[in-house]
Amino acid sequence: MAGILVFVEQRDGEIRKASLQALGEAHRLAAGEVSAVLVGEGVGSSAADLGKYGAGKVFIGDDANLKLYSAEGYAEAVIKAQESCQATAIFFSATVMGRDLAPRVAARLGVGALADVVHLEWDGDALVARRPVYSAKAFATVDTAGQKPQVVSLRPNVFAQEEVGGSAEVIALDGLALAIRAMVKEFMAAEGGEIDVAEANVIVSGGRGIKGPENFALIRELASSLGAAVGASRAVVDAGWIDHSHQVGQTGKVVSPTLYVACGISGAIQHLAGMSSSKVIVAINKDPDAPIFKVADYGVVGDLFQVIPPMIEAIKAL
Ligand SMILES: Cc1cc2nc3c(=O)[nH]c(=O)nc-3n(C[C@H](O)[C@H](O)[C@H](O)COP(=O)(O)OP(=O)(O)OC[C@H]3O[C@@H](n4cnc5c(N)ncnc54)[C@H](O)[C@@H]3O)c2cc1C
Repeated sequence: MAGILVFVEQRDGEIRKASLQALGEAHRLAAGEVSAVLVGEGVGSSAADLGKYGAGKVFIGDDANLKLYSAEGYAEAVIKAQESCQATAIFFSATVMGRDLAPRVAARLGVGALADVVHLEWDGDALVARRPVYSAKAFATVDTAGQKPQVVSLRPNVFAQEEVGGSAEVIALDGLALAIRAMVKEFMAAEGGEIDVAEANVIVSGGRGIKGPENFALIRELASSLGAAVGASRAVVDAGWIDHSHQVGQTGKVVSPTLYVACGISGAIQHLAGMSSSKVIVAINKDPDAPIFKVADYGVVGDLFQVIPPMIEAIKAL
């Protein structure tokens, strides 16, 4: 078993939480033999910090042409780092960027990729992964049939981020050819600078049971009292009550927060596909037979307009 290389995602120099979780899992599996690759412009100052999260070496691809994401440029940097450290496995987070980049790197290395995994263990010198399939109704156990390196993307908020307190050697990736044909030109912030559901530790989601777009004010108030992000079912997104960036589910975002509060959401399989791996699920629904109660740890059968206001008061009082 050799080390693990982790692609670390940053935005405006800030390391993304999902990447620190991938580093945490790499540290657990690789018994300390962890390298990281960080790509962007002027990202060197964040590199040394990664030692705290278990990276012994940090490869830096620093170039004005890498300021914003490009599949070709970023893949080249990851492959160059891999040539140098010869890791057994390369980890990505299964974020929007990681889902794009991991298969590209795998294809360039001529290996398969294990996507969106929620559990990893060694079997000899090969990693065996578990990943949800059929909208998280079942789990598949998969490996890469002996191919090396193993390219893996890890579902955000499933693995633990850990401060191990080490320091990292920083190595510049020189001589990147960067033949980039397509790149992202701009990132646009979500409305009102709200917390992104994909990154959030706590999510309060509203569904058709809230009756109208104006009642998202109640969902937002509960979310704000908990420091949570606001999520939504597809029904309310399709109705134009809230932007698609809030949608949780099969055709929205897959989330795994510590706490997920579903308000007026029935729990259709496509919604469950996006949130059933949340650690604690609370459902508020007036229908005792709503499918959401099958996955909920705590359920309140009642009218959300009567249940939520005293909840907000009680949370604020705490
Ligand atoms: C290909 C495909 C992809 C899809 N992708 C997604 C996806 O990504 N995400 C997603 O969410 N859906 C997705 N859907 C849609 C999904 O099938 C459901 O239609 C949708 O999730 C229903 O949203 P909802 O629970 O808000 O509405 P409903 O199913 O209408 O449920 C509303 C709930 O609110 C409850 N309620 C009503 N009034 C109150 C009240 N006063 N207090 C408390 N409870 C109340 C009702 O009892 C009911 O359970 C997809 C569907 C397809 C076909």
